[in-house]
Parts: sequence; C-alpha cells; structure tokens
Amino acid sequence: MTNNKTYDYLIVGAGLYGAVFAYEASKRGKTCLVIDKRSHIGGNVYTEKVDGINIHKYGAHIFHTNSKEIWDYVNGFVEFNRYTNSPVANYKGEIYNLPFNMNTFNKLWGVITPEEAKEKIEKQKNASGIKEPKNLEEQAISLVGTDIYEKLIKGYTEKQWGRAAAELPDFIIKRLPVRFTYDNNYFNDKYQGIPIGGYTAIIEKMFQGVEVRLETDFFEDRTNFENIAQKIIFTGMIDEYFNYQFGELEYRSLTFETEKMEIPNYQGNAVVNYTDRETPYTRIIEHKHFEFGTQDTTIVTKEYPSEWEKGKESYYPINDEKNSQLYKKYKELADNEDDVIFGGRLATYKYYDMHQIIGAALTQVEKEFKKNE
Ligand code: FAD
Ligand code: UDP
Repeated sequence: MTNNKTYDYLIVGAGLYGAVFAYEASKRGKTCLVIDKRSHIGGNVYTEKVDGINIHKYGAHIFHTNSKEIWDYVNGFVEFNRYTNSPVANYKGEIYNLPFNMNTFNKLWGVITPEEAKEKIEKQKNASGIKEPKNLEEQAISLVGTDIYEKLIKGYTEKQWGRAAAELPDFIIKRLPVRFTYDNNYFNDKYQGIPIGGYTAIIEKMFQGVEVRLETDFFEDRTNFENIAQKIIFTGMIDEYFNYQFGELEYRSLTFETEKMEIPNYQGNAVVNYTDRETPYTRIIEHKHFEFGTQDTTIVTKEYPSEWEKGKESYYPINDEKNSQLYKKYKELADNEDDVIFGGRLATYKYYDMHQIIGAALTQVEKEFKKNE
C-alpha cells in the first residue's frame, strides 16, 4: 500500500455486485471493507430459511443466463437445481400460461395451430393501426394483439409501474418471450435454476474472509468512509451519491406481505401474477415450489408495488425518457469522480438481472486488475 489508507477498497453495498467485486479483489490479495445499511448481506437476492423453506425476501429470484461462463461461475459457489420458471396469470379468476405462447393463445381463442394464432394476432395488430411501436402499449399490441394486452399486460404493467403503458419504454415488455410453441418456460436462456439452499449461501461464500459491516450507511459517516480506502466501489443510488443536485431519479418501490399457512400447497405454482388492475398486488409467490419443497406447511408472499420516496427501498429504475436524461447528467459526474467506481442496478440506474450484474462486475474486475496481472 502506498499511503495511509486502511483498505484497498471500500465496497458500499453487500448485494451481488459488491459481493462479486469483493470476492475477486480478495482473491487478488486486496483488502476490502464492505458496508451495507441493511441488517443482512445479499441485497435483493437475500433469502432466509423459515420452517425449512428458503424465503425470497425481496421477491422471486430465478437465475437465468445464456453465458456458460457466468453459469459455471455461480455453480462454482453452490449447486443449482433444475427449476424452470413457468408463472401463470390470474385475470379475474381466469388462468393463463405465461409467457405468451400456444397454451395462452389456445386458452384465450381456442386456436390450435401456430398459424391460427399468428393470424389472430395479425388481425388485432392491423385493427389497432400501429406500424412502428413507440412505447410499451404499442409494442405489446404489435407482439400479441389487443386481447392479451387488455387481459394480461395493461393492468399488471400500470400497477407495477404506476404509469400508463403508453408512457413506458418498449424494452420492458420485450423482456418476455412470445412463442408459437407449447412451451411455458418464462426465459429463453440456455441455463436456469435456483441455488440449492438459497442465494444467501452464494453471497456468504463470496464474502468469506472479507470484513463486512452491516447496518452501516455510507452517508451517515461519509467523510470517514471517503478516506478509509484507496478506491470506492459504490452500488447505492447514484443521485443520492451526488446529493440529488440535479433532482431525484424516479424508482418503483415494493412492499412484501408474507404469511405462513397450515396447508402443504396454496397455489400449485411458485409464481402467480394477478394481471387485472383492481387487485392491489402484482404477484403471489409460494416459496417452497422454487425448491420442490414437501413440507406440511407453506409460506406465501404478496408483492405490492408503490412509488418510491425517500426512506423506501428503490427496487426498479424507471428508464423512461425523462429519467434517462437525468441519469445522463449524473453519469457525467460519475465519470469524472476520481477513485470511485459506480456499479450495480442502482448506481448505473439499469434494469439489470442477476446474470447481467455478475457480468458487469466481472468486466469491471478485469478492467481494474488487468494492469497488475
Ligand atoms: P442490490 O441488491 O440492490 O444491492 C445494493 C446494496 O447496497 C443493498 O443491499 C443496499 O442496502 C446497499 N446500499 C445502498 N445504499 C447504501 C448506503 N448508502 N450505504 C450502505 N449500503 C447501501 N434478477 C434475476 O436475474 N432474476 C429474477 O428473477 C429477478 N427477480 C427480481 C425480483 C425483484 C422484485 C427485484 C427487485 C429484482 C429482481 N431481480 C432478478 C434483479 C436482481 O435483484 C438484481 O439484478 C440484483 O440483486 C442487483 O444487485 P446489486 O448488487 O446491483 O443491487
Ligand atoms: N408483464 C405483464 N404481465 C405479466 C408479467 C409481466 O404485463 O403477467 C410486463 C410488465 O410490464 C412487467 C414486464 O412485463 O414489468 C417485465 O416482466 P418481468 O416478469 O420480467 O418483471 P420483473 O420480474 O423484473 O418484475
């Protein structure tokens, strides 16, 4: 070490990004201090065992990736099971398969062949007059027609995001496959599963031998933390880091309501989406089904979306035009910040899944250490 700083790296946030970085830096002999304002490690992938069931405390987390490298990387920490996500949608008591596929089209329209389904969608798309979709609503109608849009997308989307679907970016709906096969797999990726024993086990392994301080907020002792290490890896909110000087970025927040039930099987599936506008929650998850649990009891969680305000957890960036412009201004400041690396979902204001977070962290690691290797 060339100066009197105690650590090589201060890592703000014990989530997946911070954990991958800490693991890789420690492996290279660097000293790291990790801090997190929450009382546990893992950020939003945190799972907690209750009555033998791993509870996904911050909503359903299914690992999926097309990258063999990233799949091998996570499997190097714990073994994954063969869980395949196949959520069902409940629209006012009618049940449909997701993602949008031949099972969905058959239930909705009675069509049997892909050709019949395509014809139906094409007709609805043409009737809508949409040529070049410019927002989520138009994109959805172009992909699956107005019936599916009205029953399975509009209500869910508008409560999830608190905005009209016509005001949201189209990429959000492109996350979901549309398939003309009878295949209910929610993802197209080659690899998919749930870590056996929960996600927390992965994070614990990544932090082995690393100093982690919980219930420690960077902003409550900022001057000290800014001087404690040679470099900072910051995975909190980028606008907060810069004292909201250009204004607040918008996020969606969530509230989780968890309940134990003295029955073995409540809904027959890990994830059920409630796609009507009136039901206040977006989905119910039944945790045991992620790991094929056979317990006598079950635990379910309802997920309620809400607008973010200070003091709430910021779960989803809202990547519309207005917020993208604002983020650009913060990004410029971030690029000029010496010895601070901004990473993860909140600091880069990106709707990243776990595999993308790991990919981004590993790219950063490569960049950071290649000069020394
Ligand atoms: P986070 O997990 O948010 O970690 C950041 C950490 O920084 C937090 O622990 C926070 O407490 C801490 N922190 C922030 N500010 C400070 C501060 N000032 N001082 C100290 N600590 C601070 N991905 C998938 O691949 N599959 C899924 O099925 C999936 N489902 C999801 C469902 C929900 C409801 C949500 C919200 C996300 C889902 N994701 C899913 C995405 C996944 O959660 C993220 O990609 C991943 O957790 C991001 O990791 P991160 O380290 O960037 O952020
Ligand atoms: N979506 C929808 N109906 C559903 C599921 C998803 O309209 O039953 C839309 C909604 O806009 C949602 C987006 O598709 O925000 C992405 O869904 P995903 O399941 O990827 O969301 P996440 O798990 O990240 O919350």
